[in-house]
Amino acid sequence: MSSTNVHLPLVINWHLTEACNFHCRYCYAKWDRSGSPRDLVRSGPKRGALLKAIHDYFRPDNPCNPLHDQLTWDGLRLNLAGGEPLLYQQELPELLAQALQVGFDTSIITNGHVLSETSIARIAPLLSWLGLSVDSHNEDTNRIIGRADARGRVITSPNLIRIAKAARNANPNLRIKLNTVVNRLNYRESLAPLLDSIAPDKWKVLRVLPVVTDDLSISHSQFESFVASHYAYRTIMTVEDNSAMTESYIMLDPFGRFFQNSVAPKQGYQYSDPILDAGIDQAFDQIKFNAIRFQSRYGSQAPTGGAR
Ligand code: SF4
Repeated sequence: MSSTNVHLPLVINWHLTEACNFHCRYCYAKWDRSGSPRDLVRSGPKRGALLKAIHDYFRPDNPCNPLHDQLTWDGLRLNLAGGEPLLYQQELPELLAQALQVGFDTSIITNGHVLSETSIARIAPLLSWLGLSVDSHNEDTNRIIGRADARGRVITSPNLIRIAKAARNANPNLRIKLNTVVNRLNYRESLAPLLDSIAPDKWKVLRVLPVVTDDLSISHSQFESFVASHYAYRTIMTVEDNSAMTESYIMLDPFGRFFQNSVAPKQGYQYSDPILDAGIDQAFDQIKFNAIRFQSRYGSQAPTGGAR
């Protein structure tokens, strides 16, 4: 296969934990935890070893990385996800500092509910991107989706706007991304007021992926209608229908294994052996990764393209 130039960082998504304060009905953060392993992030030495192994393997100038046959990239970003990564608020500053020291660029995706002024001030300066997940600015819709804690408390639009402002104040170079999962309960909604207030640098619009459950799934045309109704935001929007999301991410689970999603012929995740046990070469060889689909995600902006 000929090599495709990606003048962007290769993104390694580390899902730190399955735990979350919300309980979205479509949530994909469910991993096989036979043997009840602990979240690897809780061990400083192990997470340091994992970060180093990942960085050494995927850094752009490692000629032994098998992806070099198919892609060229010019940096490496560690994206922390969950579950809710902010549940590890104590560990995060040290983890982010470790990642920066090893040589990663860093980002995080959070539902924002437990972000305080104090945690924003500690974390934002260590990030290049802050991702906030937001599906609706209607509180009842969020509750029905499950974007609420055990007491039914949701994150309101004014709170999200405050978080974005505080994060930009704490780090003027920080870029803000919103992630929206389009599903049966929000595909008719307009997020324009929230987009105008937050003015994100990027807005990722994903069709709910039936990898763990079919709950709240929508058709291609319903997804397209949501995208079309937000045409005014095409310059910041990246769109991911289900096919674009399958086997196109490099993802680690909370226990330090690569995993990959698949919808057909069988829903669910495939796993590698733990990277620190098997070695990263062997572990990466055990999962599927579709470099063409990965590349096509970088060209998936709505018509007329835009910043990414
Ligand atoms: S906020 Fe994210 S991790 Fe938490 S339940 Fe919802 S989809 Fe899952």
